[in-house]
Amino acid sequence: MPDDGRRSPTWPSGASRVVGVIGDPISHSLSPLLHNAAFDALGLDWVSVAFTVPAGAAAAALTGMRALGLAGLSVTMPHKEDAFDAVDHASAVARRLRAVNCVTLRDGALTGDSTDGAGFLGALQRATGFEADGRRCLVLGAGGAARAVVLALAEAGAAEVVVVNRTPARAEVAAALAGAMGRVGSTSDVAGADLVVQATPVGMAARAGSDGEALLLDPDALHPGQVVADLVYLPLETPILRAAAARGATPVGGLGMLVHQAALALELWTGRAVPVEAMWAAARARLGDRR
Ligand code: NAP
Repeated sequence: MPDDGRRSPTWPSGASRVVGVIGDPISHSLSPLLHNAAFDALGLDWVSVAFTVPAGAAAAALTGMRALGLAGLSVTMPHKEDAFDAVDHASAVARRLRAVNCVTLRDGALTGDSTDGAGFLGALQRATGFEADGRRCLVLGAGGAARAVVLALAEAGAAEVVVVNRTPARAEVAAALAGAMGRVGSTSDVAGADLVVQATPVGMAARAGSDGEALLLDPDALHPGQVVADLVYLPLETPILRAAAARGATPVGGLGMLVHQAALALELWTGRAVPVEAMWAAARARLGDRR
């Protein structure tokens, strides 16, 4: 490898730095595509691959990461909490969430971080210019992704973060991440929100004509002036996004969050500014969205 880390004509070679993603299932993951698109654009002698790691094996995978000298790993389902337990150090955000979505190896130590929340805010800002400061926000769902978003919105200064979830006890845990700004609510709070975030898997399998079954809220509560974000990115256009657009609200799909959280992970691993546009282009090309 040349001293500046740039790739040689024989890439990938024995000198290439390796990063990847762990999860199960993982073969569908867009992470290697996004990482490699950035490495291409930067001309870096790095390569990203996906590793199927079954539930319960995250700690062993991170031991292997250290032994193999992998520069970074993205962490997805079902490992985000186990990986938090297995790293040497964790960022402040990861400690609040007790979960990590990326691990960096530096000087033999593993540091865990969570870039989902910042990735969500970055994507939202890029798509709509939305700033959470002083705004009323509502999050549907209370799982790992929802909790990352709740914390990020609160830290960005949201006036209120309302959590609506099927299981009330989990809603309480998520709302607590927003401190005094957080509360558990119901779908009757949707109309009063400036930002509505759909953070459940509902809508993933939606087919045309089945939107009613795949909505967790009354679509008539959506209105112009609202931003409606879905974390689901497959399909690119989900029932709640269609309902939002039909009622004059601004829809934002989940692909941007995926791209931006990956870009933040790459910045941690490489120490370089990352070409987000190249990653967007690769993701859109793979998913068939040429907009
Ligand atoms: P998770 O931890 O399993 O949480 C799932 C949440 O959805 C829980 O609050 C659950 O409610 C709720 N839920 C599930 N099925 C439901 C149903 N039929 N009706 C009502 N509520 C339901 O999952 P996660 O990791 O947070 O992921 C959530 C979604 O975000 C997934 O679709 C994932 O692909 C997406 N995601 C996207 C990105 C991105 O970069 N765009 C990043 C992370 C996640 P209970 O608490 O009641 O079980």
